[in-house]
Amino acid sequence: MIEVVWFKRDLRVEDHAALSAARGRVLCLYVVEPGYWQGEDASPRQWRFTRAALCDLRARLGALGLPLVVRRGEVPAVLADLHARHGIAALHSHEETGNLRTYARDRAVARFCRAHGIPWREQPQPGVIRRLDDRDLWARRVAAQMAQPLLPPPRGLLPVVEEPEGEIPDQPCPWSPEDGLITLQPAGREPALALLDSFLAGRGAEYRRGMSSPLTAGRVCSRLSPHLALGSLSLREAVRRVQAAREELEAMEARARPIPPGAAHSLLSRLHWRAHFMQKLESEPELEIRAAHPAAEAARRPTPPEEERLRAWAEGRTGWPFLDACMRALTATGWLTFRMRAMLQAVASHHLGLDWRASGLVLARRFTDYEPGIHWPQVQMQSAATGINTPRLYDPIKQGLDHDPEGRFIARWIPELAPLPPVLRHMPWKGEAGLYPPPLLDAAEAARAARERLAAQRRAPGFEAAARAVFARHGSRQRRLHDDDPLARRARAAARAARARRQLTLDL
Ligand SMILES: Cc1cc2nc3c(=O)[nH]c(=O)nc-3n(C[C@H](O)[C@H](O)[C@H](O)COP(=O)(O)OP(=O)(O)OC[C@H]3O[C@@H](n4cnc5c(N)ncnc54)[C@H](O)[C@@H]3O)c2cc1C
Repeated sequence: MIEVVWFKRDLRVEDHAALSAARGRVLCLYVVEPGYWQGEDASPRQWRFTRAALCDLRARLGALGLPLVVRRGEVPAVLADLHARHGIAALHSHEETGNLRTYARDRAVARFCRAHGIPWREQPQPGVIRRLDDRDLWARRVAAQMAQPLLPPPRGLLPVVEEPEGEIPDQPCPWSPEDGLITLQPAGREPALALLDSFLAGRGAEYRRGMSSPLTAGRVCSRLSPHLALGSLSLREAVRRVQAAREELEAMEARARPIPPGAAHSLLSRLHWRAHFMQKLESEPELEIRAAHPAAEAARRPTPPEEERLRAWAEGRTGWPFLDACMRALTATGWLTFRMRAMLQAVASHHLGLDWRASGLVLARRFTDYEPGIHWPQVQMQSAATGINTPRLYDPIKQGLDHDPEGRFIARWIPELAPLPPVLRHMPWKGEAGLYPPPLLDAAEAARAARERLAAQRRAPGFEAAARAVFARHGSRQRRLHDDDPLARRARAAARAARARRQLTLDL
């Protein structure tokens, strides 16, 4: 008999509860699921990063004397084959917060295990509580998870030597591997730790000031997202390292600090948001396809993939150069900073009136760091589909003038605009005709119409009561992973004051 450790979005050996729980002869398994990779939200860039992370995992498991067995197919069928030949005494994995497809697959695996009397021991992933019945208790329970000791890589497990390892395929399914990606972030534990170290050793000094502009964000943000999405680094390990660094920074003389403690604090806040958003999809997996607020769901009109406005937005040819440059940068690099993701999504939903699911799928495929648990709740939030967040309308021209005043980012991604002076790079229609396609719509007019639509939705009877129900299930209670800390308390007070000022305004 053997025990199987099934790797999913947890491609690491450190702080890996499922691996630590396994005993005796252990087969480490990754299943390449063609059905998953043919899904509407999957893309070649995500596979390239996953493939590289799997190569790293294979090397790390190898150092522990454990081969990584890779199989292609549907998971219950792969398990049935292994069970027939070796007998599976236990299946170990983490509790994945994936998409609806992986949710259905996990239920099929549960049925298989039940039918064959195989205990399936699922381990919580740090930051997410399965079957959470009281949102008020979430932060306390997550803080307790974060305080648990990090698990070292296990020793003394026995490999199942007779099972061939299997190739990590170049492609997970028949598709065109070309998706416009030019640069892929290096995958695996060392690159993840190097990013965290370089952030804490200086790169993060300008994090707060530089995180929003696409000119600086790529350098000053942590860039941990694809590593956390695939679990090459556990959230708990990241949080603990940043907490430790922040304590050291606070103990240092101000002049000697490579980054201000506030930058470490801001990174901890983002790691907290990660958990907060993931919990939403864990608690309500249908958020992938259904709006959180019933009024927003009722107002939806499906956008077909061939819709011209959707295609123009997705191809970076809306006629708003800064927005187009962001989309083109995302296509080429697989990454964009938070604010620019929010702008792309909000303009698609509000100005262009596209259904969030259609635009959300385009973004999902473009993000190397696609993480369903963050993605779909964020897509809904930026599309005012939750009913509990103040709707934000981003003016694509003003965003450009604020975050790329000289139009350098525009010039980089839309070289035909580079010869123009800065103002015309942002608004080429004010110069010579024919240099750049005119905007699809008048941005101010489109924003006005969107504001009216949203205001009417919010005035409708029953809106508030439904919003309260959404809040009870998903709303932030403002407690953090790093709860009892003075910086956190000050930040919370400032955030409360800012929210009070912003309340009832639509950001233009
Ligand atoms: C419409 C939309 C879709 C998004 N989809 C994804 C996605 O599929 N995968 C993804 O990882 N992030 C997503 N984000 C959140 C955020 O934009 C990225 O996590 C961030 O830009 C990644 O860069 P970083 O690792 O340098 O972030 P940093 O600023 O260095 O933050 C560190 C980590 O904190 C987490 N984080 C940061 N910002 C947020 C946030 N606003 N909400 C939740 N977690 C956050 C991420 O895990 C990130 O890696 C989305 C945001 C929007 C507006």
